[in-house]
Amino acid sequence: MALAQPTESAPTPLSVPTEDEKLFQASVRRFAREQIGPYVREMDEAGVFRKDLIAQFFSMGLMGIEIPEEHGGQGGSFFQAVLAVEELSAVDPSAGVIVDVQNTICNNALLRWATPVQKARYLPRLAGNTVASYALSEAGSGSDAFAMASRAEDRGDRFLLNGRKLWITNAAEAGFFLLFANARPDAGYHGITAFLVERAFPGFQVGKKEDKLGLRASSTCELILDNCSVPRDNVLGEVGQGYKVAMETLNEGRIGIGAQMIGLARAALEHATAYARQRKQFGKTIGEFQGVQFELARMATEIEAARLLVYNAARLRDAGMPFLAEAAMAKYFSSEIAEKAASKAIEVHGGVGVTKDYPVEKLYRDAKIGRIYEGTSNIQLLTIAKKLLAK
Ligand SMILES: Cc1cc2nc3c(=O)[nH]c(=O)nc-3n(C[C@H](O)[C@H](O)[C@H](O)COP(=O)(O)OP(=O)(O)OC[C@H]3O[C@@H](n4cnc5c(N)ncnc54)[C@H](O)[C@@H]3O)c2cc1C
Repeated sequence: MALAQPTESAPTPLSVPTEDEKLFQASVRRFAREQIGPYVREMDEAGVFRKDLIAQFFSMGLMGIEIPEEHGGQGGSFFQAVLAVEELSAVDPSAGVIVDVQNTICNNALLRWATPVQKARYLPRLAGNTVASYALSEAGSGSDAFAMASRAEDRGDRFLLNGRKLWITNAAEAGFFLLFANARPDAGYHGITAFLVERAFPGFQVGKKEDKLGLRASSTCELILDNCSVPRDNVLGEVGQGYKVAMETLNEGRIGIGAQMIGLARAALEHATAYARQRKQFGKTIGEFQGVQFELARMATEIEAARLLVYNAARLRDAGMPFLAEAAMAKYFSSEIAEKAASKAIEVHGGVGVTKDYPVEKLYRDAKIGRIYEGTSNIQLLTIAKKLLAK
């Protein structure tokens, strides 16, 4: 039977990027391999991400992918941001999360909610030289994020913020924080308000940095708000609308974490395959044993499935279509298979897999957080189930 010829109106396969996307993807891939690759181990051991590499993220336009050109950004798509996060994470998931938080969460929130004045003031900085953090979680409010204890007291032309934020990615390097506090505690979560906070604002301090299992080069810090004075003009959206800002941006952020996890899983598969080609036992390469081949084949299949979920959620977002459950599925599935792929990659390596002489032990450590941040796997399942059971 003759195959039908593709027509112009035929839908594009999800795994086939456009020419522009392909060029972008290739340039990020090359940059990640050549410029970040040599420093991955050093940064993991030191627990610090190199400042010169962050400067290169800015000069390459990777920190303002969707920011319009008039504000100094690249005027690109959300899908491109996802491609960038995947490519960076395939070399170093810490690099991936820095670019992810900037683009899929912080820039996105401003693009949707900021006033023209706020956009003019902050977007050029976010695209050009200022790392951003998203500060929602606290010691007492993680999955139940809206139970936050941080308070914002209305003083007319300004708010005074008090409280502590915990687990804030990028905080050591950030100059800008999208931060949530409750301005009307009596109204419950309807009091939560989003604030644009600069590091230099009085009463703002970055506290202790966590010493983590994985993603060690990505900073995770506490924030201390001690009568932190934020001008009223720096409320993002309206007072009491913060829960909407938080939820909408997290929905997009979850697709970004999915991209981080498929990049990580891809790296695990590449390392496992390369090792299976050269390691010999019983007079053969281990890749000649069906038991090893099947592990690699399973990994490849799961990664392909995860990538399609992530790409489809990103395409839905760019098309302006609903993507809430799809984003939750993408994040849930990608983080589950990434942990599995990294674990299997260690097993394919045998004993050397658990040593620091090979990169797979780091991928295994880095994978663990995928099932926890930006909503644990249980929270993603709750979101999916809610949609399934909605009347
Ligand atoms: C490295 C790192 C980086 C982070 N970066 C950021 C950041 O940049 N900004 C930010 O705001 N936050 C950040 N976080 C916080 C992260 O989003 C929270 O850790 C996460 O949401 C889980 O909250 P928790 O740690 O309080 O766990 P908990 O909410 O206490 O959850 C503990 C366990 O209980 C389960 N659970 C809780 N509620 C339910 C329920 N209703 N049904 C079923 N199971 C449930 C969870 O699934 C989990 O297994 C980061 C965390 C880490 C570790």
